[in-house]
Amino acid sequence: MRYTETKEQSAELLRKTLALLGQHDACFNPVSFAVWYEFAAGTNAGLTQAIGQATQTEPRLSDASVIRLYQEFVADVDQVVIQQIAKQFQLMMAGVADSAQQTGHQAGSFGETLSGLSTALQRNDAAALSSQVAETLASTAQMQASVQVLHQQVNASRQEIEKLQSDLVRARNDATLDPLTQVLNRKGFDRQLASMLQQPLGSDSAHCLLMFDIDHFKQVNDTHGHVMGDRVIQAVGEVLRSCVPDKAHSVARFGGEEFAILMPSSTLKQSMAMAESVRQRTKAMKLRDRRTQEVVLTISISGGVASMLPGDDAQDLIARADGALYKSKQTGRDRVTCA
Ligand code: GH3
Ligand code: MG
Ligand code: MG
Repeated sequence: MRYTETKEQSAELLRKTLALLGQHDACFNPVSFAVWYEFAAGTNAGLTQAIGQATQTEPRLSDASVIRLYQEFVADVDQVVIQQIAKQFQLMMAGVADSAQQTGHQAGSFGETLSGLSTALQRNDAAALSSQVAETLASTAQMQASVQVLHQQVNASRQEIEKLQSDLVRARNDATLDPLTQVLNRKGFDRQLASMLQQPLGSDSAHCLLMFDIDHFKQVNDTHGHVMGDRVIQAVGEVLRSCVPDKAHSVARFGGEEFAILMPSSTLKQSMAMAESVRQRTKAMKLRDRRTQEVVLTISISGGVASMLPGDDAQDLIARADGALYKSKQTGRDRVTCA
């Protein structure tokens, strides 16, 4: 169950939610209600952080912003997509059922023709036999055609089902992917982190979290504009993905210009080596003017690495990695620090 508050607790949240709804420009609909309810309850860490960021530049959130927050942090899967998939599935199953029924009828009359032929054979009735053989031949051809249609339809349905299945997986992934970088968004990260923390630990390995923050990124926006800022974020996402070929390690955009990598069952040494390679590849990256191909920008990134300690929850691990990242910033940036 997503909401576990008692009636009294939810009444208190209702009051807070109504106040929040009143403070923003978005309409009073169930979408904005869900966003502000979860914000008031404080149960959705990604949403809380995203609202904190969004309200810095837009103090009264619009419908568009609230819908974006809802889709990214509240809705599990795009309901419209799910409805479309369910409808296609229904249509396809109805088609197969029709064909199967047709074949069933055909099989029934084919059986009757065969038993007519058998009776004629038993009676040694030459006149009846010749017409029965002709009928059986025609019936066999019909039966063959009917079975062929069913066969084709079943084959087509199987392909369709496979496609629908991958659509469904994609719809699920869309809900946890960051559209700009195609790495996990905060919601996907929170899920992966929770599942990593539940995995048992080997004696010589640890679950590690690597956090990164682009250095002086505000300057990039100020000097080169937001479009270039977005390109830089995209490029850093690309660097992280290329550094982490192993799908067991998850790459996420933690927020704005911050990224994270989860490394379950690995050593601090391996995690530090990974963080160092992200740092070096980011530094080596050259962003070019799309028209002139002239190099207009290079950037650096700071990192913090922490491993899970007994009794740690997600917040403890994040806080430690973040603390290490902060140290990297304090001691000159463009470096990685181990907690
Ligand atoms: P530091 O080295 O200490 O990390 O400095 P910084 O300038 O990188 O950090 P600061 O937190 O001051 O600024 C981060 C900026 O990132 C502010 C915000 O406008 C920008 N930002 C966050 N998300 C996005 C985004 O999606 N696109 C763009 N273009 N900018 C973003
Ligand atoms: Mg930052
Ligand atoms: Mg930064």
